[in-house]
Amino acid sequence: MLMEIRNLSKKYGDGQTVCEACKNVNFNVNEGEFIAIVGKSGSGKSTLMHLLGGLDNPTYGKVFINGMDIYSLKFDDLTKFRRDNIGFIYQFYNLIPVLTIKENILLPVFLSGKKVNWKYFDFLVKKLNLKDRLNFFPNELSGGGQQRCAIARAIINHPKIVLADEPTGNLDRRSSKNVIKLLKFFNKKYHQTIILVTHDEEVAREASRVIVYEDGEIKSDSVIGK
Ligand code: ADP
Ligand code: MG
Repeated sequence: MLMEIRNLSKKYGDGQTVCEACKNVNFNVNEGEFIAIVGKSGSGKSTLMHLLGGLDNPTYGKVFINGMDIYSLKFDDLTKFRRDNIGFIYQFYNLIPVLTIKENILLPVFLSGKKVNWKYFDFLVKKLNLKDRLNFFPNELSGGGQQRCAIARAIINHPKIVLADEPTGNLDRRSSKNVIKLLKFFNKKYHQTIILVTHDEEVAREASRVIVYEDGEIKSDSVIGK
């Protein structure tokens, strides 16, 4: 079992204004799965993704990755663990505007103090069609181009888990299809586990498992198997 999510809960605020964005959620994730999480806006999908990725603190409950309780780690150790094991892709790319495309992609490698694997870098930028944009700045690329750069940055360190929060939410249909095709390619080629939030039924259809999320809870969980 790659991930075990146990009684995961998150409350924002307290007293009269408390918002329970994640309510005692339980599920397991096997290595190599491609999971789509669908649900209305405000249902708590981003909260769940941040909790899965070690970017937040649960109010209650645990996230185990390879048997390790990630929130038992000290802050610095969790940061390091996240850098080595989890790639995060956001709806609005979150690229660093003052860095070039090449620098954005390589940032996680430099932060983790590793050497750049130039062969893998070359393969990635070719596959993601970024080879002739490497010296551009993010705002010089289309939305699809920026998201392809964000994908490269998310997977440059070979993370076991890729978390994508509405990665196609801001893209036109063609770029959106392309982004999903690429995520699927890396899922198959490297057996990377992908958990993706989407509003788009067509995107969800590409997944091997669909979790419907409603009001901080799992409403249904269906393995499609692909
Ligand atoms: P989704 O991604 O499905 O749109 P979110 O996880 O962003 O849902 O939000 C779920 C609920 O939690 C919403 O009601 C939202 O207003 C609330 N919420 C999210 N983040 C915070 C926060 N940092 N502080 C207070 N409330 C929050
Ligand atoms: Mg969200």
